[in-house]
Amino acid sequence: MNFKLTEEHLAVQEAAREFAQNELLPGVIERDNQQKFPAEQIKQMGELGLMGMMVDPKYNGGGMDTISYVLAMEEISKVDASASVAMSVNNSLVCWGLENFGTEEQKEKYLKRLALGKVIGAFCLSEPEAGSDATSQKTTAEDKGDHYLVNGTKNWITNGNSASVYLVIAQTDPEKGHRGINALIMDKEMDGFVVGKKEDKLGIRGSDTHSLMFSDVKVPKENRIGDDGFGFKFAMKTLTGGRIGIASQALGIASGAYELSLAYSKERKAFGKEISKHQAIQFKLADMATQIDAARLLCLKAAYLKDTDQNYSKASAMAKLYASQIAMEVSIEAVQIHGGYGYVKEYHVERLMRDAKITQIYEGTSEIQKIVISRELLK
Ligand SMILES: Cc1cc2nc3c(=O)[nH]c(=O)nc-3n(C[C@H](O)[C@H](O)[C@H](O)COP(=O)(O)OP(=O)(O)OC[C@H]3O[C@@H](n4cnc5c(N)ncnc54)[C@H](O)[C@@H]3O)c2cc1C
Repeated sequence: MNFKLTEEHLAVQEAAREFAQNELLPGVIERDNQQKFPAEQIKQMGELGLMGMMVDPKYNGGGMDTISYVLAMEEISKVDASASVAMSVNNSLVCWGLENFGTEEQKEKYLKRLALGKVIGAFCLSEPEAGSDATSQKTTAEDKGDHYLVNGTKNWITNGNSASVYLVIAQTDPEKGHRGINALIMDKEMDGFVVGKKEDKLGIRGSDTHSLMFSDVKVPKENRIGDDGFGFKFAMKTLTGGRIGIASQALGIASGAYELSLAYSKERKAFGKEISKHQAIQFKLADMATQIDAARLLCLKAAYLKDTDQNYSKASAMAKLYASQIAMEVSIEAVQIHGGYGYVKEYHVERLMRDAKITQIYEGTSEIQKIVISRELLK
């Protein structure tokens, strides 16, 4: 076993850290206040190669491994979780899904632009009545010979308005249950495609979360991903990898909150000495650092298993379950260490605390991760 990162890994980590500190940090508080999507910054992330990190260079990707992706996600998420969720959805759901299950034509037409971050993608599974129970899809994709006619509503779609390419899960044959579900590529310009209201959220307020409405949208057959009925499997396989991205986002939120707390504790004085000299604060820092290290190891293990073509389903669920839990705990402690200053926007930790919560909900709630883990344990 080797815990040493390679030169390439360290270079990716350093580049992502520099970008986050220089380009994302200025303005992050305003974007959160104004619920402003970091469009300009995402464009720059595309130019840096962060939007299609794991895609094969022949499709304009960075050809990097999942470990590099975890390292970059952590650095971006330390500063701006709204930018990192756009990065995560584009990399591990949209690009990965298309590269692994799309046709050559789909990769040429869509993946090449997505991997460069010239356009971004969205992954549309959830509906008003289908969240954790993703099999109960109400969106329909009626088979009309050379095309599907799509009708329905999707909820909570990240990059909902900013995306150009949408991977949409819809029911074609209800009699076949989840085996009758398809995954279709939609363009925003398709007739009948309507972007609904933007959600006013607790955290990741810069992220662009919308509902989407489809009314008789004609999607050509060549836009179906995989064989007829592959859609549900496609969604589940894609989300298994996506969880490594969200786990790394949670890890980054935790480590960002910890780093700010460590620095603050060395500056702030109470009772004649720095608060870092009080054992109660030292113990908080010790707990936070230990939790973060454990979460990082789970993320890197899941990434390693994925990179070496081993089963990573349990590992990615464990990484997401644990990292999201400690992101909550660590960010709450970070606010506590900052005292009253932690409760105001200027010191960043209150935002990190609000951002942490979503990591326990999207791409499978913590309860769903426990179902995935226990299923694997009891196989
Ligand atoms: C900001 C944001 C961004 C999102 N982005 C996307 C996106 O880009 N694409 C997308 O498709 N979706 C997205 N989602 C949706 C997200 O994945 C769902 O909200 C999530 O899967 C939970 O579904 P739900 O909200 O319907 O909750 P429900 O499924 O109704 O769950 C409610 C509660 O019941 C629990 N529960 C449900 N079933 C079980 C069970 N069998 N056992 C134990 N407990 C259970 C859940 O864990 C939860 O605590 C996003 C959501 C948010 C808030």
